[in-house]
Amino acid sequence: QSFEDCGLPAKMLSNLAENGYLKPRGVQMQVVPAGLYGRDMIISAATGAGKTAGYLIPILTHAYGLSQLPGDAMEGPFALILTPTRELAMQIEEVIKAMVRGMSNMRTALLVGGQAMANQVHRLRQNIQIAVATPGRMVDILARHEEISFSNVFCLVLDEVDMMVSMGFRKQVKRILDVLPVPPNGRQTIVCSATIPRQVEQLVSKSMHDDLRIRI
Ligand code: AMP
Repeated sequence: QSFEDCGLPAKMLSNLAENGYLKPRGVQMQVVPAGLYGRDMIISAATGAGKTAGYLIPILTHAYGLSQLPGDAMEGPFALILTPTRELAMQIEEVIKAMVRGMSNMRTALLVGGQAMANQVHRLRQNIQIAVATPGRMVDILARHEEISFSNVFCLVLDEVDMMVSMGFRKQVKRILDVLPVPPNGRQTIVCSATIPRQVEQLVSKSMHDDLRIRI
């Protein structure tokens, strides 16, 4: 199996190659096709296995498709990636930028603490397609800026959700799930969690439909 066989946007393929992603890793061979098909998933992968690119490739492909619709039929963000820490959010945003370089209408917003919220809100108002956020800052933005809509987030990733739960972000994650389109028809959800304790299971269960469990 190769990335070329997956029907990815041509520019994304060349970006992948340029960044040294020449063949899919094991986890990507499972996650990329299932993600492109629209499946919900719970991925338990060891660090370093390549899960980040695994979930990003399909959701960025979907977001790209939506961003290319004629006119301004729909406003982004189309994809939201939630992570427990700002460091992880920043790393993921860098990976996204490398994957979508040179693709039209694929802009990102980083919504994390420790930086001015006003700049982030300003960016959100400029029709961005992909948001990478931590739960705390995301909830602050929702509380203070009701006019900002996340109703077109058709792809949600909860990365390291076990860590989000252990850091006490359960309520914030629930609040965020409440403003997103309702699955199964409205939203695809990809969850990454090293282990799946009951608290995690309860938090994500309503978002998951016929979900695939991938353990690598
Ligand atoms: P992750 O498990 O998502 O943190 O990824 C671990 C590392 O593997 C990252 O530095 C990626 O850049 C790299 N990586 C992921 N997938 C591939 C691939 N298919 N080919 C080469 N490097 C990869």
